[in-house]
Amino acid sequence: METICAQIKVYGIVQGVGFRPFINRIALEHGLNGWIRNTSYGAGIEVEGSGENIQSFIKAIRRDHPAAAMIEKIEHTLVDEVKGFKRFVIAESESTGKRRTLISPDLGICDDCLKELKDPSNHRYGFPFINCTNCGPRFTIIRDIPYDRKNTTMGRFAMCPSCRDEYSDIRDRRYHAQPDCCFDCGPELRLLDGSYNLVEGDPIKEAAAALKDGKLVVVKGIGGFHIAGRADSPEIAARIREIKKRDERPLAVMARSIEDARSMVKLSADEEEALTSFRRPIVLLKKLNNSDYTYLSENNYLGIMLPYTPLHYLLMEDIPALIMTSANTSDMPIIYTNPEAADKLKGMADYFLIHNRRIETRCDDSLMWVLDGKDYPVRRSRGFVPYPVKAPVEEGVLACGAEQKASFTVTREGMAFPSQHIGDLKNAETFDNWESQIRHFEKLFDIDVKNIVCDMHPNFLSTEYAVNRGMKDKLPVMKVQHHHAHMAACMGDNGLEEPVIGIIWDGTGYGTDGTTWGGEFLAGDYKDFRRMGSIKPIRLPGGDKAIKEIWRTGASILEDAGLDSSVFFIGGRADRIRDVLEADINCPVSTGMGRLFDGVAALLGIKTESSYEGQGAVLLEAAAGRSRGEYPFDIRMEKRWIFDYSRMLGCICRELYEARDIGLIAADFMNTLITMSVQMCEKISAETGFKKVVLSGGSFQNMYIMERLPERLRSAGFQVYTHSRVSANDEGVSFGQALIASHRIRKEEE
Ligand code: ZN
Ligand code: FE
Repeated sequence: METICAQIKVYGIVQGVGFRPFINRIALEHGLNGWIRNTSYGAGIEVEGSGENIQSFIKAIRRDHPAAAMIEKIEHTLVDEVKGFKRFVIAESESTGKRRTLISPDLGICDDCLKELKDPSNHRYGFPFINCTNCGPRFTIIRDIPYDRKNTTMGRFAMCPSCRDEYSDIRDRRYHAQPDCCFDCGPELRLLDGSYNLVEGDPIKEAAAALKDGKLVVVKGIGGFHIAGRADSPEIAARIREIKKRDERPLAVMARSIEDARSMVKLSADEEEALTSFRRPIVLLKKLNNSDYTYLSENNYLGIMLPYTPLHYLLMEDIPALIMTSANTSDMPIIYTNPEAADKLKGMADYFLIHNRRIETRCDDSLMWVLDGKDYPVRRSRGFVPYPVKAPVEEGVLACGAEQKASFTVTREGMAFPSQHIGDLKNAETFDNWESQIRHFEKLFDIDVKNIVCDMHPNFLSTEYAVNRGMKDKLPVMKVQHHHAHMAACMGDNGLEEPVIGIIWDGTGYGTDGTTWGGEFLAGDYKDFRRMGSIKPIRLPGGDKAIKEIWRTGASILEDAGLDSSVFFIGGRADRIRDVLEADINCPVSTGMGRLFDGVAALLGIKTESSYEGQGAVLLEAAAGRSRGEYPFDIRMEKRWIFDYSRMLGCICRELYEARDIGLIAADFMNTLITMSVQMCEKISAETGFKKVVLSGGSFQNMYIMERLPERLRSAGFQVYTHSRVSANDEGVSFGQALIASHRIRKEEE
């Protein structure tokens, strides 16, 4: 058998994820000698052996690489001269080229560690902090680069001799696993009671027993604290909602296993894969029966995740499902330190299960749907962040995003780093966290900010920060229209450069004319856009008040359509609104799709006061029955195409009077929006010739529409693109801003 020599270049994220020991192992398995080293582009490998073995070695790299590695491409060339390597070694890292770190996200426990955790003969049997090069905390424990133990919150735990041996042994799967530890040298758990007094006994056993017994336990996790309690108990859910200030939003559930999850929700193979991936996100899954678990979620979906830390597995041995909701009150950032947990939750929970491994960086659980076999992110956070998203971005852009579902994005050439979910900046603590995370990212990823980009909204706190920072650091600040950023985000998510039609629906965004937009049909690219169409502007009597008191919007759209709102909104409220509308005092206009959903939800009596953003829309979707009907409507030209829904509202009023089923009306309403969108796109395409359509904005978290609109557009001859790497809601705005800013920078340089 002829011996040949091959040089292999692996591009992507292969450092700090257990890649070199993996290559070492499979080289030996394939009878290959040679070396591997870290390089500026990834990893360089040289191996000698039979051609057949080298080929299957390359296949194995592609197929079996560590879960957290991200391989972009593998190049290989044959070398003429065989060097006669005697063994396989890990060579010194190549120091030429700019060394730039990439940091792995936090990784859910791997199968090998899980096996050891449950093996009574293993010295880490039952050890709640077991991890290896393939799993464990990363992003949330890193304080500085390079990624060495001393630069993580594990730095204060000196390794015992046995862990040190593993750490230094190239053949060991804990070789260079920075957070490696065991009972002798690792962090320790403590169980405290509701008044924060130490509870004697085994903390895990006691905590598990308490949970089983229906108690509320605050549990320290990876990126923050959770409040946990039995998922089968409406009383527990009510107690948790009380702590979270009567928050009506759905509560996430941690199911012990896929089988336990299957007893609560429908699961496709793709959804199962998402649940079990090392990222361990919360996946929004259809309840078996819509009326099940309404105390957990008032819509048709349950957010479910699987255990992702060894501690979770140990706690859940006897409990099939726990409510596992982030420990924070609405709008506050997730609690992540022991003193903060004590300070804010003492006396509210029954127990606290804490430990002394510090969390450096807050990171909430990620949240997503699976749509057409792909991720459809709502909240891109733990398990995803801080992986970069490949995109045509320039070096050194800081994109400050929107305000409510705040994020930011920093860039290196060709790589965008969207931040984790941060929250509503109007909350001072959240803002501080956002600001300190910007600095943290700049440091970790060695970003030298040269350009700042923000939203056009003059009052967004992110805009204010951008302007101030620009002045202070003497940097240019660009402003980008909100829905243009959404459109660019979806283009970048799909690698599109050519012009598109953007259907951009959300609640609120500042328009170029100073009014509020949000039910938009745009045409354009990264460079520019034109507002081709929108829904008919809605007057919001009372301004911001109408965002919560959505019955106001309901009354307003009826009055504007020439219908009598007092039939539906009784008690004199509608009369007052009519006066306000007539006098036109404090009635700002909005084309927000979220507002139209609010108005119709209120009209149908589904919800008249909204307690969280989008609640009206969420409940309207949940109420929708099976109907393929739709309502009449008009699209007319007034500088742009306007969707006039007056005739639709007339029909809805008549059907309400005739007591038609609310669910059917809700479905027909959404069907009308779908047909209207197809017609709008046809009109815009006739004018522009564009055939590609991107869907973005928070209103596209409506699965009724997401399951139907793309299909309808495709049958009308359009190519449709949806999000799969960043969120459709305002969290994705910073990514879109970074793309638009990068395009402008390139143009200036040309
Ligand atoms: Zn592991
Ligand atoms: Fe938005």
